[in-house]
Amino acid sequence: MDASCNLFYVPAMTQAEQYDVVVVGSGGGALTGALLAARAGLRTVVVEKTEYIGGTSAYSGGACWLPGTDVQQRAGLPDSTEGARTYLNAVLTDPDQDKVEAFVTHAPVLVAELEAMGLDFVPVPFPDYFDAPGRVPGGRSIQVSAVQRDDLPAEVAPLVRPPVELDRIGRGGRKELSGGQALIARLAAAYVEAGGEIRTQLPVTGYVTDDAGRVVGAAAMTPEGPIELRAERGVLVAAGGFERNQDMRSAHDVPGDAAWTMAPAGSNTGEPIEAAIALGAASDFAGAGWFCPGLEQPSGEGSFTLGFRSGLMVDATGHRYANECLPYDRFGREMAKAPERTRSWYVFDSREGGQFPAIAIPQGDAAEHLAAGTWVRADTIAELAEAAGLPVDALVEQVERFNAYAEKGEDPDFGRGEDEYDTFFAAGTGPNKALTPCDQGPFYAARFVLSDLGTKGGLVTDTAGRVLREDGTPLPGLYASSNSTASMFGGFYPGPGTPLGSAMVFASLAVRDLIG
Ligand SMILES: Cc1cc2nc3c(=O)[nH]c(=O)nc-3n(C[C@H](O)[C@H](O)[C@H](O)COP(=O)(O)OP(=O)(O)OC[C@H]3O[C@@H](n4cnc5c(N)ncnc54)[C@H](O)[C@@H]3O)c2cc1C
Repeated sequence: MDASCNLFYVPAMTQAEQYDVVVVGSGGGALTGALLAARAGLRTVVVEKTEYIGGTSAYSGGACWLPGTDVQQRAGLPDSTEGARTYLNAVLTDPDQDKVEAFVTHAPVLVAELEAMGLDFVPVPFPDYFDAPGRVPGGRSIQVSAVQRDDLPAEVAPLVRPPVELDRIGRGGRKELSGGQALIARLAAAYVEAGGEIRTQLPVTGYVTDDAGRVVGAAAMTPEGPIELRAERGVLVAAGGFERNQDMRSAHDVPGDAAWTMAPAGSNTGEPIEAAIALGAASDFAGAGWFCPGLEQPSGEGSFTLGFRSGLMVDATGHRYANECLPYDRFGREMAKAPERTRSWYVFDSREGGQFPAIAIPQGDAAEHLAAGTWVRADTIAELAEAAGLPVDALVEQVERFNAYAEKGEDPDFGRGEDEYDTFFAAGTGPNKALTPCDQGPFYAARFVLSDLGTKGGLVTDTAGRVLREDGTPLPGLYASSNSTASMFGGFYPGPGTPLGSAMVFASLAVRDLIG
């Protein structure tokens, strides 16, 4: 067969290697697809551009929003396929019914398959993110249990990306792997035990097509030059989004900044998406990203922040603009609504001894923040405003207003504390657990940026994970999942673990299709 290469940064090919399935990327979706392909007896290779496997998935909590499975049933939770269908239809604007159906009906099948392969899941007690019919208070999202590095196959143990707080300072991972690291480690272990191959530090630069336009492999770059990885059955792209590529972000109107994303340095710059578009794949970027408020680090990076216990967020005018206890993507979307919000300040008091009253991953050391100026401290709110460069009168008035709301236990401006998600992390002792006064000096203000957990616009796929052309027909041989695709959730983040849950389900459906 005569094959030609989609020339995406790739000079002439020098050698070709033969597989049945080439999986591009090594996050939760990629490894789920790879595992299922290898277990079906297909010669499978996972191709990862960085030195580690796992990408942002390894940084994650590893929560997978996979409703209606045996895991929830075993735990006696009020979750069901029907409930999840109702919930998605209530939350999403104009949902793709075929995708919703494929997702809710296949999630339990996939989890049963993975459990039969030795992955054991437990429910995560986290509420869904919208007050809508079909919502459950927790457990629709599930997680694999921790694993010891020493118990992993020798070829997997050193490859799992360290947690973000260690990775960003160039340190290795711990002995016990939990959350997203455990998910990646367990999937990768099962995959190599099934005979799968992993190749790291091998960026995929494009695809190989035959005369009929079918994708028959991937083109990758080694230090010695380009190679072809031939895929007799197909190529599955699950290589993250383009969050680390500022030009692509700007071209597709993704708010925030490549420097503020949570994706690992050197990871997701979107070339597998662009290469597919160059082959005629349809794309949709409307969903933009999975957003979050990001505690700015002295390095200028963002830190995924959730679960504010006290304090208030203000924009450059010194005013609040949303309920700080909203689920993080919803708060991030509020930040994205106005340029003066994409850089905000979080004002908090000393009730936690000068520690930040929320979960920030990574958090950073208070003394380092103060030395770097990413945090300022003062004895009064007026002095704090001056130190932060915020309008003094506006901030003083805002904090007084907030404190009056806290005393009453009501937030007429933004309804903080009214939803069950608002109070999930809250520890206040007043009339509203989520509304605690900011009145114990000294006071702090911490710089915030609009961060993200990845972009979620990209290749348009069908319910079998096949990449579609502009005319709606499949681009033969090419499949996609994860943040490389236009998310079925559009501009919504319905519940904890929807990025990983949907990535895993559609990678699994893609592999079913290419197994035939
Ligand atoms: C702190 C934190 C907690 C989170 N918690 C959760 C959670 O609990 N549940 C949840 O669902 N989501 C969570 N998320 C979000 C979630 O982790 C990501 O959105 C999701 O994992 C992205 O998966 P992915 O496979 O698309 O990308 P990634 O996991 O980033 O994997 C993509 C991989 O592809 C590689 N790659 C990119 N380009 C190429 C190329 N050209 N050639 C070869 N390889 C390439 C990258 O190097 C990377 O390793 C969290 C995120 C963070 C930061």
